[in-house]
Amino acid sequence: MDNLIWSVIIIGGGISGYTAGIYTSRANLKTLILEGVNWGGQLMTTDIIENYPGFLDGISGPELMMNMRQQAEKYGSVILSEDVIKIDGYNVYTKNNIYHSKSIIISTGAIAKTIDYPAYDLDGNSLPSNTFWNHGISACAVCDGALPMFRDKPIIVVGGGDSACQEALFLANFGSEITILVRGEKMRASSIMQKRVNDHPKIKVRYLTSITGIYGSVDPKPKLNGVFIDDEKIETSGLFFAIGHSPNTGFLNGQLDLDDHGYILTNNTRTNVSGIFACGDVQDPIYRQAITAAGSGCQAALECEKFLAINSV
Ligand code: NDP
Repeated sequence: MDNLIWSVIIIGGGISGYTAGIYTSRANLKTLILEGVNWGGQLMTTDIIENYPGFLDGISGPELMMNMRQQAEKYGSVILSEDVIKIDGYNVYTKNNIYHSKSIIISTGAIAKTIDYPAYDLDGNSLPSNTFWNHGISACAVCDGALPMFRDKPIIVVGGGDSACQEALFLANFGSEITILVRGEKMRASSIMQKRVNDHPKIKVRYLTSITGIYGSVDPKPKLNGVFIDDEKIETSGLFFAIGHSPNTGFLNGQLDLDDHGYILTNNTRTNVSGIFACGDVQDPIYRQAITAAGSGCQAALECEKFLAINSV
């Protein structure tokens, strides 16, 4: 396979990468998806997606990813579970192989930043710090905020940027009271977002405040009950992180233009290098939704097809 020249190599096996693969392989482009060892992206840890159009009762993240992966393969994409460590022109390097291509689509996603707090049960015994992850703790209000466990209950958002404000405003549609915990003296969010938050009757903001621990019940299954701020105990059914995302762009080693947060700069999925495209969360600091990632995967594939039609001999 080392001597083959692919029409397109898609780096990253999340929703945008598989979507791009479905489109490029259906367009008869010889497509290799290097999906990474931990393929599937952020949706692999999402229990149920209720806002992906077409699934009346929602669909589990892993099921959606399995379906899309199979769909890309069905139309001819070759999928390998290898991590890419660098690119050089249109050559793509994994630990043991070099793959050659005429174009590249990057869809390596982003990871929501989270914090590991000491966790305790209701008797004060220590628990693994990840006990309440997905059982009250989340890093995506739009994905999880409407779940029944948060309805009419107090919710905490950690962060002080636009995301924290946006998440709090969204969560205010469901929770009884939303508290934003800001670690510094002021918020980093734009003034319009801060105004919206401050004007909202259900939202309050606490400054110079950091969580020191979390607690909850474990039987019959884990359930977050609250957080500690030093000696203060605050009841909450939800803890949402909005402390930024880290786009997976380290392997690019300065070869593409990035913004100040490390996201790939794109114009309709085109990067600053001709023939290299980017889609999904790796180039999207704002929307970060399954449906927008899929949409941009389609866009990248169509742009790539256009590029190859003009540039291939
Ligand atoms: P930001 O990097 O802007 O903000 C992160 C926030 O999290 C900061 O307030 C930071 O605090 C806080 N934080 C970081 N680490 C910790 C920690 N360990 N404990 C507690 N707090 C912590 O990220 P966003 O996701 O909010 O925004 C990213 C980009 O996306 C920005 O450019 C933003 O404008 C944009 N965006 C725009 C939206 C819009 O509606 N237009 C919506 C969402 C995002 P500190 O300030 O002390 O460093």
